[in-house]
Amino acid sequence: MKTINPFESAMSQLANAYGVLKSKIKDQKSKIELQNKIEILKQPQRILNVVIPVVMDDGSMRTFQGYRVQYNNARGPYKGGIRYHPNVDLNEVKALAFWMAMKCAVADLPLGGGKGGIVVDPKTLSSRELEQLSRGYAGAIADCIGPDKDVPAPDVNTTGQIMGWMVEEFIKIKRAEVGMPWFSPRQGPDLSSIHKGSTAKAVTRLETARLPARYFDSLRSTFTGKLIKDGGSEGREEATGLGGLFVLQSVLKKLKADSRKLKAPLAVAVQGFGNVGYNVAKFLDANGFKVVAVSDSRGGIYVEEGINPGLTLDCKKKNGYLAGCYCSGSVCDLKKGRVITNEQLLELPVDIIVPAALENVITAENARKIKAKVVLEMANGPTTPEADTLLYTRGIPVIPDILSNSGGVSVSAFEWEQNLKGQHWTKEDVNKKLKKKMETAVDAIWAVSQKQKTDLRTAAFVVALTRILAAMK
Ligand code: GLU
Repeated sequence: MKTINPFESAMSQLANAYGVLKSKIKDQKSKIELQNKIEILKQPQRILNVVIPVVMDDGSMRTFQGYRVQYNNARGPYKGGIRYHPNVDLNEVKALAFWMAMKCAVADLPLGGGKGGIVVDPKTLSSRELEQLSRGYAGAIADCIGPDKDVPAPDVNTTGQIMGWMVEEFIKIKRAEVGMPWFSPRQGPDLSSIHKGSTAKAVTRLETARLPARYFDSLRSTFTGKLIKDGGSEGREEATGLGGLFVLQSVLKKLKADSRKLKAPLAVAVQGFGNVGYNVAKFLDANGFKVVAVSDSRGGIYVEEGINPGLTLDCKKKNGYLAGCYCSGSVCDLKKGRVITNEQLLELPVDIIVPAALENVITAENARKIKAKVVLEMANGPTTPEADTLLYTRGIPVIPDILSNSGGVSVSAFEWEQNLKGQHWTKEDVNKKLKKKMETAVDAIWAVSQKQKTDLRTAAFVVALTRILAAMK
């Protein structure tokens, strides 16, 4: 099997959309201007390469390789998650950062795109080691992040708890930087010793130190996807999955108008059972879809009657694996289902497949074997450009990642806004705003795809690029 470089895939998607944009321009001057801006978008603006030392529980020292890629900030601070995975590499993080820039523009957020990653299998670390690694990473990138610079969040294998460690470490560093490591948010700083004989420089430091506790609190907005107790937003944890449901429902309405043969209850196979996979399965199940298959990195299960995602998750937690967790209705029964591979899952005779794990799972090799009528991309970059073409010619719409999974970053943006304004919105409010955002994004992309006669991915890129290019100087 040939290895696929996700950054090359990302650049080929950029080239496609550029082709569409270019074909609409008549005058030479605008053509050159477009070409020049696209040239800038072919590379990230900044790449941070960090090494994080961790003293392991056995006393030995291990160093971990980490990255933060700041792709583009034309529309606002860089925004994007941090991934912990043994296969993280720079090309992957560059691609993910590029997709974040596009995704934030698709959702019309005042944010750019970035992404981070650490080469690590977090399952092999103790909780103390994981905390040290996460704090070390936050410290290593602290100079380059902040609410107005770069706002990281969770991604594959990172959680609200990890964001909590990171934000705490970041605020600790910022306090130390103003020379007030003893600054107490409750009492405010004791400035008396510094007042005596202060130099101009000390005054500047003093000014910063006089910042109210509110300032350091607002630094919480440097990370999103935090636990509620650390300043997180209601609804953030489920947002990617719920956003996926809203996008799918919206697109299906448009496809129906297209007289496609899709009859309820629609059968769905979900690849991945992490935060995104589980939540999307849960919301689909609760909204009249029949989730017949789910999987994790070790393989999947198929239950013809339809899986109960909540019971299946409980069973997986108890056993440590999905096999045997054939939970349907209110019971789990070994006779109800069977084990399948991750590859088989994508080729099941279902209505919709939902890749919700990692990139490059739908390739030129299996695209011909896909029987589903719609692909909802909840992972980032699950479909290669060759597979995209094959599916398009077969008339199978692919709802692209930068649209389908933009619910997560949208609620991240809500969290950022709430932190900056010192507000806490209700879950009902958050979900209402999320629904509106997803529907508006679908409408814009659908309209472009109809007008330009393109697939939905190219249309999403055209929408995103148009917004980013307008913000570029
Ligand atoms: N990691 C998520 C994504 O790929 C969320 C990013 C964020 O919330 O900033 O969209």
